[in-house]
Amino acid sequence: PVVTRFAPSPTGFLHIGGARTALFNWLYAKHTGGTMLLRIEDTDRERSTEAAIEAILDGLRWLGLGWDGDTVFQFARAPRHRAVAEELLAAGKAYHCYCTPAELEAMREKARAEGRPPRYDGTWRDRDPSEAPAGIKPVVRIKAPLEGETVIEDLVQGRVVIPNKDLDDLVLLRSDGTPTYMLSVVVDDHDMEITHIIRGDDHLTNAARQMVIYHAMGWTVPSMSHIPLIHGPDGAKLSKRHGALGVDAYRAMGYLPEAMRNYLVRLGWSRGDREIMTTEEMVDWFDIVDVGRSASRFDFAKLENLNGHYMRAAEDGKLFGDLLATLPYLPGGAAFAARLTPERKEQLRAALPGLKDRAKTLVELMDSATYLVVERPLALDDKARQILDADARAVLAALLPRLAALESWSVESTEGVVKGYAEETGLKLGKIAQPLRAALTGRSTSPGIFDVLVVLGREESLGRIGDQAA
Ligand code: GLU
Repeated sequence: PVVTRFAPSPTGFLHIGGARTALFNWLYAKHTGGTMLLRIEDTDRERSTEAAIEAILDGLRWLGLGWDGDTVFQFARAPRHRAVAEELLAAGKAYHCYCTPAELEAMREKARAEGRPPRYDGTWRDRDPSEAPAGIKPVVRIKAPLEGETVIEDLVQGRVVIPNKDLDDLVLLRSDGTPTYMLSVVVDDHDMEITHIIRGDDHLTNAARQMVIYHAMGWTVPSMSHIPLIHGPDGAKLSKRHGALGVDAYRAMGYLPEAMRNYLVRLGWSRGDREIMTTEEMVDWFDIVDVGRSASRFDFAKLENLNGHYMRAAEDGKLFGDLLATLPYLPGGAAFAARLTPERKEQLRAALPGLKDRAKTLVELMDSATYLVVERPLALDDKARQILDADARAVLAALLPRLAALESWSVESTEGVVKGYAEETGLKLGKIAQPLRAALTGRSTSPGIFDVLVVLGREESLGRIGDQAA
């Protein structure tokens, strides 16, 4: 059975590229009936933080990308990594290297002067350990093959061939005995019985060096898929402005996780020209071999449109739950939530069908519902203030008793009053609806004005109209 893994380094938030890598691992596991494991690569003790770990777990949960089994923490496995290095030493497949920093620098200098990539020259590879200088703590290096080539049959990149003369004897243990990243990754992937490695193609050169370790240990090399990175809309490396943000930022911008999944899967993978697909369809159709080889471009407008689609298509009760659950993360959302009395919550729920069609994000949805949670007398925005000139206030004054006299308060009955008044006075409907809108919401735009009247109810509506009537 397929075992994939997502292996983030907790040195920052779960960024959008990482989220897509997680999604591809998750989809491939689901598609094949396998499992996805999670490994936190926290060996960089300086830069790894608890907060970043929390942000990554939280981001994965929010995106709905659950993992199987216990989370593996790489640093805690250092003794095991060290043991593997010792094993290689004992088998003569690794050796102690006593080169000083100055000697290594000289090697690099020489390579630079000769115009070739800097590489360890193998000084200690075949030297007798008895020649070891006193007082120097050695590193442990692997004996990389000197001839032939290392071949990666990458499911995305195709056949990648690296001449072995380009692979140097990489360090397995530093002089303080700590394992290197390269060693840790290989040992963990082996011990976790990973069958498929799916990660960014910035790790492709690492893959060749990691294979040296697999071969030395006689371990089976997992299938590899190095997926192209996400670029900005201009084709350059993804910048903050272009979306290189943590997934928490996307939650705060009011995107729905299902829209994020749909958007992310299309970055590098496609199924014909299908733009919109359910997560079930993604699971059915996704195959890692169909991931393209060219970098994909991040496009905020596309994400927003997709999100708008998911908002409109969402069942009202579900969307309502999503909005309430997301409020704490939205800018101004906590204040909004604080003013959401049980009664207003009911109103919001009732207003949702009218609100969701216009909103592309939960932020816009919340914003369009602001009129529900404000206190009388309403603060008017600039446009609303302009609308409410003397004529408009007179219209409100005329409407007030007619609305107050209604026996039933509904879209039909309130609309009847407005239409009747328009016919009587010859005023255009807009000349009546706009003042009403300004008085009821404090703004110049809102959902259908009769919906607003019904959602606010008779008492609150008449109160707000009365506040502005002259
Ligand atoms: N920890 C690495 C990263 O965050 C991933 C390593 C891997 O997938 O092998 O880039």
